Amino acid sequence: MKTPIITKLHVPAIINAASHLKQKGQLAMSKNNLLYLDIDDTYIHKLFPLLHDYQVKMPDYFGEKSVGAHITAIYPEEGRDINKEDLSIEHNFSIKNLVFTEIGPKTYYILLVDSPSLLQLRRKYSLPDCKYAIWNEPVAQACPTCAWPILTIKITKKRGTELVCPHKPCTFSKPMDIKEAE
Ligand SMILES: [Zn+2]
Repeated sequence: MKTPIITKLHVPAIINAASHLKQKGQLAMSKNNLLYLDIDDTYIHKLFPLLHDYQVKMPDYFGEKSVGAHITAIYPEEGRDINKEDLSIEHNFSIKNLVFTEIGPKTYYILLVDSPSLLQLRRKYSLPDCKYAIWNEPVAQACPTCAWPILTIKITKKRGTELVCPHKPCTFSKPMDIKEAE
């Protein structure tokens, strides 16, 4: 699997609301072999409206085949046979950050959580800890081209440090002083 590039979003209202929801769930297996922690759907119903500044659509998690609010533990493509005794076990987690990532044409908003027991479970199946590349904190500055509410700092060997618009259809970027980035 490709390492997803994720960007932190600073929306304290969401972290605050999430910290009042139940921080435990039960392991379950979906029809397409996704092992996930089934968590309270309130996570989506309560938190989604708080993303109103970010032009989001409700995720398609509530159809017949869908699993609702969840934390993925093991992806189907990781190809593990899960022991029955691991299913239905309860795991606790704590909320860390709100991030977003772009996969294809879609932007996904994700709550990052800490869950030592889920990590333990992945290790038991000889799977690596979930890895992701985190971008620098976004800058609270609207994009001058498309008015997206934030910009992010992107550092590449080729172009140095730039302030870029994270909104996919937009191509705004502007070189940046390292000092400014700190
Ligand atoms: Zn833009």
